[in-house]
Amino acid sequence: MKYTIEGFQQEVLVQYGLDSVDAIILRYIIDFFNTGKMNHKIIDNRIYFWVLYDSIINDLPILRIKSKIVIARRFNKYVGRGLLKKNTIKGIDYYFNNNSEFSRRGSYTYFSFNKSIFQELEKNKKNTNELKLLKYNDYLKTAHWKKIKKQIRKKYNNQCQICNSKNKLNVHHKTYERKGEELEEDLILLCQSCHKKFHTILED
Ligand SMILES: [Zn+2]
Ligand SMILES: [Zn+2]
Repeated sequence: MKYTIEGFQQEVLVQYGLDSVDAIILRYIIDFFNTGKMNHKIIDNRIYFWVLYDSIINDLPILRIKSKIVIARRFNKYVGRGLLKKNTIKGIDYYFNNNSEFSRRGSYTYFSFNKSIFQELEKNKKNTNELKLLKYNDYLKTAHWKKIKKQIRKKYNNQCQICNSKNKLNVHHKTYERKGEELEEDLILLCQSCHKKFHTILED
């Protein structure tokens, strides 16, 4: 048996009752999600994405699917099998498609990935990095960031690396390139006033 289909364990796909069309659709949404350009919301600390069924139809002619209902049925299947969690939201929303902004009023369905199932499907592969996608302020609230902050404070002995102050310490990103998977050298410990100077110079 071939081990992977579209980067997913074939065995696990079969186990969840998924076929090759599902594998293509799921790969498409994961790739899209990982670009960070997918419209998303954070609800109860989970990232929910919203996908335009038309873009699946247009971007994947190989599926020969012409109707949104057929896509919707597939998504319902993913929810039913526990791969995705669904959240219906009412109100106004703004989204980008082909670089233009649209607004929509009504109720629409957002999905979030069941991480453990996707980890199983993508065994031996790095899981989608949700941390990268979080807005910076939300990122600072994550357990991941709190843990890193602790490490960096310890590393620098709770001292500002510019003026040696021990008051009001901030962990500063020298680069955001590896946000969510920072190396120790990406971060430095600064007191609040040195940190401020840094940001006036760097403009961020
Ligand atoms: Zn900073
Ligand atoms: Zn300082």
